[in-house]
Amino acid sequence: MDFGYTPEQQALRREVRAFIAEHVTEDVLAERGSSESNTGRGEGGAMKRLYEKVYERGWLGITYPKEYGGQGGDRMTQYIVEEEFTRVDIPVGMGGSGAPAIMAAGTEEQKQYYIPGLIKREISFALGFTEPHAGADLASLQCRAVRDGDEYVINGQKMYTSSAHMATHIYLMARTNPNLPKHRGISIFLFPMDTPGITVRPLWTMQNDPTAPIGTTYGHQRTNETFFEDVRIPAASLLGKENGGWRVGAMGLNLDRVGASRYLISVRRDEDIVNFVKLNSFDGYAPAKDPAIRDKIAELWIEAQVCRLMTMRSMSIVEHGGNFTYEGSAEKTWAPEHGVRTTEAIAQMLGPYGQLLNGSPHAVESGIFAHNLQGAFQSGINHGSTQVMRDQICRRGLDMPRK
Ligand SMILES: Cc1cc2nc3c(=O)[nH]c(=O)nc-3n(C[C@H](O)[C@H](O)[C@H](O)COP(=O)(O)OP(=O)(O)OC[C@H]3O[C@@H](n4cnc5c(N)ncnc54)[C@H](O)[C@@H]3O)c2cc1C
Repeated sequence: MDFGYTPEQQALRREVRAFIAEHVTEDVLAERGSSESNTGRGEGGAMKRLYEKVYERGWLGITYPKEYGGQGGDRMTQYIVEEEFTRVDIPVGMGGSGAPAIMAAGTEEQKQYYIPGLIKREISFALGFTEPHAGADLASLQCRAVRDGDEYVINGQKMYTSSAHMATHIYLMARTNPNLPKHRGISIFLFPMDTPGITVRPLWTMQNDPTAPIGTTYGHQRTNETFFEDVRIPAASLLGKENGGWRVGAMGLNLDRVGASRYLISVRRDEDIVNFVKLNSFDGYAPAKDPAIRDKIAELWIEAQVCRLMTMRSMSIVEHGGNFTYEGSAEKTWAPEHGVRTTEAIAQMLGPYGQLLNGSPHAVESGIFAHNLQGAFQSGINHGSTQVMRDQICRRGLDMPRK
């Protein structure tokens, strides 16, 4: 097996890097920083112009069919483009599990409406799955959707609905039949966030105070709790079959656990610390020459390559028409745990100054390593916790019985 890139793929990477050098300007990054600080403004003019140019190059929706506004391209092209843009904090993926779920289970009308909008970033989804008493045990969710003529009426509460204050739509899991076994009475709905009866309240994460610098890898400063009170939506908002939402939701989540941006969330820290130790020395002490630091960084780098190869394996399975099951869970366990090990090791290398946050005059690199240390732990919880992922590896990968 050849793990290298073809000459065409290497040329594409150079082309993307040249584009980024020219178009991802300080203005763009500053605007990206303010939208990431989650003031509710979303993407402004500079980001919109950038995305128009990225779209003209054919670098949005690469793997989606041309009839839905995509490029009909392959996953390796998508990977290379996404990897380069993720390094400068510009997301170019489809933003979550909504798009793959719509492609798999949506009506023709839903595909025609949502996929081009998602590709052009005119539509974005908040993910409305978790509830106060349904996180790891998601199938216990209580949010209700009751059919009433040509409509459904939604009542309930969702937790950790990240970006619900900026998203145009929500991708919601709700209970349509409380009398069926819990996994079978669930359905998925897609509808606009400005539908009457929806209230979004901020939940601030520990990365927020003080505001994390641009380039902080893990998660967002703000997530939300979202309330639904007699929210009336057309029956056509249903994605897939009524009471068939569990399979669709799980498939979408699984696909969204892999890919270049997910891999880089956990691995960019390795690149950052290599650059930092190469470029810095302190009163004659050069960390890059310290055998203990060299040894630790080499160990982390090898782990990072395992993350990359796991991503390649998942992509290769999908590229060849298969469906990965436990492989995504293995990746979602290894990569976040690697990210935690890296941020902890960096904290030890940098000593007390490395733990000072943004705004402190003595903070190292505006506190980015300290903010990443704070944020790394949540990556093992969100999008399926590592404990739940391990359970899936046992059952689906190793064919072990349910306990
Ligand atoms: C920053 C952030 C952003 C998020 N964004 C979103 C979002 O946009 N949309 C959304 O719907 N959700 C989102 N989530 C929610 C996330 O998916 C849940 O936090 C996650 O599923 C865990 O649920 P919980 O927090 O209720 O923890 P709990 O379910 O209470 O679990 C607590 C701990 O117990 C462990 N545990 C629970 N049950 C078992 C078991 N049977 N076996 C072994 N261990 C177990 C879990 O692994 C976890 O470590 C986000 C979470 C975070 C932290």
